[in-house]
Formats: sequence, structure tokens, C-alpha cells
Amino acid sequence: MNNLSEQRILLPHDIYIKDIDSIKTISINSYLSSGGYKALAKAVKELKGSDIIEEVKKSGLRGRGGAGYPTWQKWELTAGAEADEKYLCCNAAEGEPGTYKDRCLIRTNPHQLIEGIIIASYAIGAGKAYIYINEEYQAEIAALENALKDAKDKGYIGEKIFGSSFSIDINIARCPNKYIAGEETAMIEAIEGRTAKPWQKPPFYPAARGLYGKPTLVNNTETLSNIPHIILKGGDWFSKIGSSKSPGTMLFTLTGDVNRPGVYELPLGTAMKALINDYGSGIKDGMRFKAAFPAGPSNAPVAESQLDIPLDFESLKEAGSGLGSAAVTVVGDAKCIVNTVAGFSRFFMEESCGQCPPCQMGTVKMYRLLQKIEDGNGDVNDLADLENTCSLLEGEKVYCHLLKGAILSVKNTIKHFRNEFETHINNRKCPLG
Ligand code: SF4
Repeated sequence: MNNLSEQRILLPHDIYIKDIDSIKTISINSYLSSGGYKALAKAVKELKGSDIIEEVKKSGLRGRGGAGYPTWQKWELTAGAEADEKYLCCNAAEGEPGTYKDRCLIRTNPHQLIEGIIIASYAIGAGKAYIYINEEYQAEIAALENALKDAKDKGYIGEKIFGSSFSIDINIARCPNKYIAGEETAMIEAIEGRTAKPWQKPPFYPAARGLYGKPTLVNNTETLSNIPHIILKGGDWFSKIGSSKSPGTMLFTLTGDVNRPGVYELPLGTAMKALINDYGSGIKDGMRFKAAFPAGPSNAPVAESQLDIPLDFESLKEAGSGLGSAAVTVVGDAKCIVNTVAGFSRFFMEESCGQCPPCQMGTVKMYRLLQKIEDGNGDVNDLADLENTCSLLEGEKVYCHLLKGAILSVKNTIKHFRNEFETHINNRKCPLG
């Protein structure tokens, strides 16, 4: 914990979730006095787009929106696409339950994000960028509007930045308050003025045909907020933080049954146990740890025997789970795991956009079976039906990841906590009341 202050690069401090409304947004003058926009000056005055992409490649930065895709690869593909116009879309939709990291970044330091967007746009040759943000995040939208105006007034946004031939325009695009509206093709639909629903895939290569049919780079808020630091300090510096295959820090949103839920910036590879005990101050109300969902409701839980697991892309994948956007949801032993996963399942049922019948019908069926078991009305056939439904749905072709997330949390919760499901069935009620 001692040398973390040197490694923290994104947030000025850890954020206790209940204090989120007291966050003060850094002014452009404070940002400038701490070295803000120096990376942009360096990029535009001294570097070619290909130099910047090379630096991002050296850093090993991977997308922080969920998939963990190497950032430089997306940039290189978009930079290499021939077109008269290119776009950059910063995805700040952040609609998954238990995720607050992008909002914290925008509230604390919108200029860091804006600087990252301008550098990325310069690197790939985009002249227009959008920040796609949930229309209900009013405080964050206001912070962005003010910061964009200040950056424009200082000449960092607009025509011929630093006297170069590079010009950039950045606008805010409002995302409907629906989880699925954050999916990248749904985002394109929304920005173009249509209903935010995912496209059928494949094919979908935003680097070739994205927004308005043009090459488009889509990156998450946290991913882009890393860029000014990588350009100023170098890709080698960044690659030494975190673990070898998952370099850098990540913003972990810790929620659920912990004493101190919050957003913590920690090196990737930090043990789950350290996040919960050292930063979250342990499990609350005298409970013991039961489970944690490291990717929120969209992936498998880890059990007590896995508490030493390093929080990074590879380790969690090897353990049968995933990092996602690092929305770590902790469940204490006085909480019912069937009830927890039924809540997740209900979320997916309500958020399914209905385009794909297996998703529309499958999420309803999973939720109903889970709730029946939780209410004490289920039998062994219902549990078998639930497992079969998960297996059958896994093979279905659908347009987006929602259904997969819904299946993973249910299927793996049964795998780790089958005895709790069986106790509900045998006792004909929830053992925890
Ligand atoms: Fe909509 Fe579900 Fe199909 Fe995704 S998988 S497009 S949420 S119906």
C-alpha cells in the first residue's frame, strides 16, 4: 500500500461512494498548473499519429470498458482506414449496476478525459469526437460542458490546434437511461438519432464502418483518461505498473456488504482480499465473506477459497470469471445468494431490448425459476430446468452480450452454491428468512 501514491494516476483520491455528491471538479487552471494539456502539446508538436500509437502499444493498455481489448490495436485499425472523415466515440454510458468509475473520473477531472480524447483523435485522424453519456448523469454532463467550454476558450479544441493542421470538435451525446444503450452499436444508433438497440453481428468493424458509416474509434472513459499520462511519462513507465499482461491501474468500484464501499484506483493484479479488507475495511455488520462478483452481475462469482485471486484480466478468466469493468459486488454470509442472483436476473430481464427471442424469453424464464426457488415454491425439477435453460441459451445466436452475462452469473452461482439452492427446495423457504 505504501508506494501506491506514486502509481495512482487517474483519481486525486479514493472516493467513498456515499460522498460522491461532494466531489469537487478540478478547474482548467488547476489542471494546467499540474501539467495538464502538456501531453497534448507534446503529441501535436512533436509526434506523428503512428508514434503515439506505438507508445500506447508499448504501454500495454487494455480497454477498461469490459472486454480488455488491446487499445493500440483498435487505434491502428482506425488510423489505417481510408476515409474522408473519421470519428471517435468515448463511451461514458456506464449503465451496469455497481459501476461508478467513469462518473468519478468525469466529476473529478474532465480535462484529463478531454485531453485523452484529443490526443486519440489526433493519432487516428478523427476530426470529430462524441462523449456518449447517460442523460440522467446531470452533474457529470454539467462538468463536461464547463470543461469543454474552457478547453475551447484556451484553444485546445477547435481549428488548427497549436498552429498545426489538426482540428477537433467534441460534443456531448446523450445516452438513454437503459443498460443496453451502452453497447457500442446501440450507441451508434442513439448518436445518429434512432432507438438505441444493438446491431446484428458479425459483421461489425467500427474501425471500417461505424458512426455515419465512417471509421470510428470507440473507447471507454477510463481508457482514454490514461492517455495523457502515457504520452507524458512513456509507455514503458505505464507497462511496469500492474501485472505483465494487464498493465496499469484500474478503478475498482467496490459495493455490497463491505464497510467502506467506494471507487479505488489500484494496480491491476491486486488481490481481491486486499481490495475488500485493506480498502473496503472488511465485511460489514459482523458478517463473513460469502462471495464476490468481480464483474458485477455479468459474470461468475468467486468463492471464499478464491479470495487471493489477483484482480486482472487473465487471472479472473482462468478462474472462470472475468474483470469486466471492475464492478466488484461483495455478498456477506447473512445474505441469500439465490436472492442476490435472482435480483441480477431480474435486471437482465428488464433490460433485454427484445430484438432476439432467445434473450427475451430466456431471461424471463431464468428469472421466474430463480424467484420460484427463492420463494420456497421450487422443486428439484425447477433447478434442473434452470440449469438446462442456461445450457440451451448458451448455444443461441443473439445480437449482444446481455444474454451471456445473464447466463454466466446464474450458471456459476449454482455451481459454487448448489447447496443453498437445494436448501431452499428442501426447506421450502429461504433459510435466511
Ligand atoms: Fe437485445 Fe438481448 Fe438481443 Fe442484446 S441479446 S440485442 S439485449 S434481445
